[in-house]
Amino acid sequence: MKLHTWAYPWDLASIGVDAVLGELRDLGFEGLDLATNYHAITALSPRARNRRVFNSELGAVFFPARFDRYQKVRPQLWPEADVLRVWPQVAERVGKFDLRLHTWTIGMFQPWIAHQCPDCARVLPTGDRVVAGLCPGNVDVQDFFAAMCADAADQFPIELIQIEGSAFPKFTYGWVRPRILIELSPWTEWLLSLCFCDSCCRRARAKGIDVDGLRGRVVAEVERCFEAQGDTDPAGPLTEQRALWLERDPDLRGFLACAEDAVVEFVTRVADAVKGVSTRCKIQIWSPVDVDGSPGVNLKRVLDRIGSVFMWRPTSHPEQAAEVRALTAAAKPRVEITHFQACGWPAFGWPNGVDAPEFRKELEAAIKLGADRVSFYNYGLLRRDQLRRMVTLTRSLLKNTASPTAAPAL
Ligand SMILES: [Zn+2]
Repeated sequence: MKLHTWAYPWDLASIGVDAVLGELRDLGFEGLDLATNYHAITALSPRARNRRVFNSELGAVFFPARFDRYQKVRPQLWPEADVLRVWPQVAERVGKFDLRLHTWTIGMFQPWIAHQCPDCARVLPTGDRVVAGLCPGNVDVQDFFAAMCADAADQFPIELIQIEGSAFPKFTYGWVRPRILIELSPWTEWLLSLCFCDSCCRRARAKGIDVDGLRGRVVAEVERCFEAQGDTDPAGPLTEQRALWLERDPDLRGFLACAEDAVVEFVTRVADAVKGVSTRCKIQIWSPVDVDGSPGVNLKRVLDRIGSVFMWRPTSHPEQAAEVRALTAAAKPRVEITHFQACGWPAFGWPNGVDAPEFRKELEAAIKLGADRVSFYNYGLLRRDQLRRMVTLTRSLLKNTASPTAAPAL
């Protein structure tokens, strides 16, 4: 199992490219996953020298994108030249440090794109446009990501493009300081996550779906929550409600099928664009769960297009991890597995610290499932000592934990 870590270009610009690459090699990492673009963030970088807090309100592109390759959505480059120089510098020197270069590419959480091209934004059933997120079915969104990933793969010796967020996220994902004071049941939240942008509506109408009728039923159901008496959402449990609606509402079934098609189309277009410029570079997706916990890409439908898939919380979701393992092992050509390992970040339920028993259990589970690599989150946000202990622990577990010798049967 290879050991990687995510890294922000702004941290490399602050610390120095040679210093970071040398440190990663000396710590025992075998590669880095460097961000090509990024979403809105305010981050504390304890390892940085001249900037401890990095802030971006809309996100940006962090490599010198070549504008003649793009169509309607124009890359919004980060304005600091020293940060933009990081990618070419890393690409030039990464081989000297015997490190592999992957990208960390953010998908639908790109507020700058929604600001530049409002039609790319997701639209709630209520008609509200959400600038935090994009719709993967929008052709301009697909054009941009296909162009950006191909641009990066063509310029730099990248082996894997890790796409984070290529499906429809939860309806609040990316909201700035969200304020929701009424109780929303998971069922109501799920309904609100359905995208009714012009692209999604067109796609559904082309399949004969009564989009306006479906939208009216969805909004009426959401308003049962909004207008309820008392303090709680009267909606029933998500699983039962969704099953009931899917059974009786063919328009909803068709609408969800269109949404899945849109995500598969997005992944396929990006993969084909990358393949067109590089024989070595593959793409990686999140499945069956995406970064925010919402459904990711339908893995079975893109197995022949991808090189790797993220494994999500193997101890919390063992059945999902086993299914990913079985599907990837049976794929031809083989599809790799990358285990996402955070250290800290308790707000999202991740083990807090290298010594946390859960941290060790997650790594052990990933090793037992035969993950090809682990990507630690992330270089600039952690102390050097934490990185060192992560690597030491992982190497120790690799020696003592048996990994599978044969793929489990499907
Ligand atoms: Zn949409």
